[in-house]
Amino acid sequence: MTNHLYDALFGRHAGSDATFLILADGQTLSYRDFLAMIGRHAQALRAAGLRPGDRVALQLEKSPQMLAVIAAAIRAGVVFLPLNTAYTPSEVAYFVGDSGARLLLADAARAETLAPVAADCGAALLTLDADGGGSFGALARGQAEDFPTEPCGPGTLAALLYTSGTTGRSKGAMLSHGNLLSNAEVLVDHWRFTGADVLLHALPIFHTHGLFVATNVALLAGCPMIFLPKFDADAVIRALPRATAMMGVPTFYTRLLDDPRLTRDLVAGIRLFISGSAPLLADTHREWEGRTGHRILERYGMTETNMNTSNPCEGERRPGTVGLPLPGVELKVCDSEGREVPQGQIGVIEVRGPNVFQGYWQMPEKTKEELRADGFFITGDLGRIDADGYVTIVGRAKDLIFSGGFNVYPKEVEMALDACPGVLESAVIGVPHPDFGEAVVAVVVAAKGVTLDPEALGKHLAQEIAAFKRPKHIAVVPDLPRNTMGKVQKNLLRERFRGLFQ
Ligand code: ATP
Ligand code: MG
Repeated sequence: MTNHLYDALFGRHAGSDATFLILADGQTLSYRDFLAMIGRHAQALRAAGLRPGDRVALQLEKSPQMLAVIAAAIRAGVVFLPLNTAYTPSEVAYFVGDSGARLLLADAARAETLAPVAADCGAALLTLDADGGGSFGALARGQAEDFPTEPCGPGTLAALLYTSGTTGRSKGAMLSHGNLLSNAEVLVDHWRFTGADVLLHALPIFHTHGLFVATNVALLAGCPMIFLPKFDADAVIRALPRATAMMGVPTFYTRLLDDPRLTRDLVAGIRLFISGSAPLLADTHREWEGRTGHRILERYGMTETNMNTSNPCEGERRPGTVGLPLPGVELKVCDSEGREVPQGQIGVIEVRGPNVFQGYWQMPEKTKEELRADGFFITGDLGRIDADGYVTIVGRAKDLIFSGGFNVYPKEVEMALDACPGVLESAVIGVPHPDFGEAVVAVVVAAKGVTLDPEALGKHLAQEIAAFKRPKHIAVVPDLPRNTMGKVQKNLLRERFRGLFQ
């Protein structure tokens, strides 16, 4: 019997002395050594009492050890849920409780605060440090490198990946072996990854971008990864000359643009820059091209579906768009009843394909609301498709503002604001208003060295957009609240400004 995902990503490298990981300190790890680590970790999961179908929650710092636990879980048929390292113990309690995890693996530094969480949820707590220390590390060290791989088909559940919680409480997306492998196969082909690539990996591996997009693509293509613990501009700039590709969130690109060391020469060996997880401003795209000669390839996906669309590798990469549906992915833009809107109009994006998840963990009602009987998933993102099939994301349905009987698309107002002199970036939200239902509020960050005058900004906007779209209040702030994936947390802004008109 075979294990659909394990065999394709990891098993294929058995016996290979090729390099899998290049670490920050220059040390390397071969596939052979990594697979041995997987075997021991899989034995340790069994020794800790985990059977196929059981859940293991991981709140671990990014390391080869963490990646090996994930691979070991896949190999042992154990469902894993990687958790954001920024989550507090009470947040971790929700995930461990919701998933019914039998084991919580954490860094030793967190053991004390997480012990009561694990105890309350009836889960065991073991520790694993980035250097292999900790109680789970010790358990694994005593194990054999061989492990009888658990048979798993494409329909077997591999991971419970919790969504980022940008629009509400995080939901556990059930992803099968088939969901993950099919998407990785499409991406390797679409982005032309081969064993000759070296992927610069500075993303977290608790999120779909760093885990299922970046890591799975590298494993499937057999290309080594420069595996950095986090995004650090110095380390990334040191690593760029050794890499052929980088995947990043938009803030990677804006932070590198802020650095004078980013030059054409520095990235002469790069073949592909990819961006996703949050909108890449068309300006950033153009500025990057001006500085480096590279057109960033932007793609669009989410926890529930992995990747849905991508700009082409060869062919036109259009700034401000997320490209075309990937092979095998059907994408349509619909009204709330699921009827396709005329081409070019804005609606909710729905997707169907082998990449679409199995539903939300223990949320049958929510699953029914968002996953149609015909297999289309209602993404909650608003977008439109242009005449050539390129998709543009205009925001989230939940962020749409209803003001005085009109729909206001925040993105449209943000683009008008961003084009005003002295504006670096902006976020537009709706807050309760006694007359209008909701009022448009703009939260604006000034460009370096500029002092913005909200009144003058409002006057400038008056020439650009219709009155009902104009902000009733413009707040200038030093920066926008963002989560680790660079997503602007509009829920925090709504909370902060909700009392403005009441
Ligand atoms: P939650 O579902 O819990 O509210 P979330 O949707 O932010 O959180 P993720 O699955 O991490 O959780 O993020 C997916 C979302 O990220 C997409 O639905 C989309 O809104 C946004 N996104 C991803 N890539 C892009 C992109 N290239 N451009 C614009 N938005 C993007
Ligand atoms: Mg979401």
